Amino acid sequence: MDTQIDDTELGDVEVADFRRRVAEFLEANCSRAGDRSGTVGDEDPEGVATARAFQGAMVDAGLGGLRFPTEFGGAGLTKRHQELFNQEVQGWYLPNMPLSISHGMCLPMLDQFGTPEQKARFMPDNISGASIWCQMFSEPGAGSDVAGLSTRATRDGDEWILEGQKVWTSGAHYCDYGIVVARTDATLPKHQGLTMFIVDMAQPGIEVRPLRQISGGSGFNEVFFTEARVPVDYQLGDLGQGWNLAVAMLMFERVSIGAGGGSGLNADRSPGLIVAAQALGLGDDPVLRQGLADLWIREQIKGYISQRIRAAVTSGRVPGPEGSLAKLYGSLLARRVRDVSMTIAGSAAQAWDAEDSEGSRWATACLATAGISIAGGTDEVQRNIIGERVLGLPKEPDPYKGAAWESIPRS
Ligand SMILES: Cc1cc2nc3c(=O)[nH]c(=O)nc-3n(C[C@H](O)[C@H](O)[C@H](O)COP(=O)(O)OP(=O)(O)OC[C@H]3O[C@@H](n4cnc5c(N)ncnc54)[C@H](O)[C@@H]3O)c2cc1C
Repeated sequence: MDTQIDDTELGDVEVADFRRRVAEFLEANCSRAGDRSGTVGDEDPEGVATARAFQGAMVDAGLGGLRFPTEFGGAGLTKRHQELFNQEVQGWYLPNMPLSISHGMCLPMLDQFGTPEQKARFMPDNISGASIWCQMFSEPGAGSDVAGLSTRATRDGDEWILEGQKVWTSGAHYCDYGIVVARTDATLPKHQGLTMFIVDMAQPGIEVRPLRQISGGSGFNEVFFTEARVPVDYQLGDLGQGWNLAVAMLMFERVSIGAGGGSGLNADRSPGLIVAAQALGLGDDPVLRQGLADLWIREQIKGYISQRIRAAVTSGRVPGPEGSLAKLYGSLLARRVRDVSMTIAGSAAQAWDAEDSEGSRWATACLATAGISIAGGTDEVQRNIIGERVLGLPKEPDPYKGAAWESIPRS
């Protein structure tokens, strides 16, 4: 039975009790510092196992999937509990980065668009970390223009057959399930002929090939579908509604990247950088001090943007273009963090001793920063969205508007 309680205001005692429960859990299971140098997917098997175990402990403590109903594996608590949790967790390092996409994007999609059967089947294991999920949108010929994607799904009795290729799929090499968008009708305009599916990554017909990044990590993958069969009841949302669902999922992604939905990359960096600068005797450098103060101020602003957006997500609303504002702000801030970090690290970030894991960590973080401006839609694409949907500027011209996808020339 669903034991979700009313979203009425909590009393002072309840608030204090809940804060104490969260604080005790954080003390017992988390640290104040952690390695935040990589991107989602970079983790080794040990890091993935740690994330699963950590999430299991969250669930055991009654803190997993806080605002999701107990019948679907959540804690059945309220939006207010989620807000309190978000506040308490500030400044802590949670070893859950491999779950960022699973929880930041796939879980809200299952919650908002899944059938009752899909929710009952998939949400408990997703919430507990027993299954980890990835997102498969981008293709070699469709990144910013994801609506132009070519992966096909053809109906065959009680199944759909997937054919095609995805790329840049973070974490696919350790994921158990994925959410994929595929073209189910090529005769319709590109935005209309798409449908979303849940895919079991371990099934025949799916091949995952890891890619090597400039940062040295290997978090991305190519995913090939060769006659991969998907049961009809794994369709997520209505037939032909894939674009609307994809937009919702991209907004969850932008919120997750821009507003710090679990990714270590979004933790405030200025406190750690100040400590590092002081340890290296750079605490009196006026230009560096100015740079650090600037970062601190911008991190506070990011915190307020995050708060506003988390409130929207927590209330169960699919975020609108404010997700693009958060994402753009987050990626511009990440570049500033990178520049200040490199000033502090100096040459040690370019050429470090084999034994110097710190130098390697700074370099990895620096190289991984560029990806933040690309993942979840590039800075240019966010600016387009903000221009059109917030500022009301004219839309980009599209010479093929309304044309059947199959009639549009593509490479
Ligand atoms: C760290 C990271 C993680 C990722 N994880 C995933 C994942 O898990 N799943 C997934 O599906 N994808 C993932 N991606 C892929 C990501 O979504 C795409 O890389 C992104 O959407 C851009 O697509 P593209 O690389 O094909 O570049 P393109 O779309 O080819 O863009 C190339 C350049 O053209 C510019 N451009 C394109 N169109 C316009 C326009 N209309 N106006 C102005 N400029 C434009 C872009 O800004 C960019 O500078 C990830 C990427 C990164 C970096």
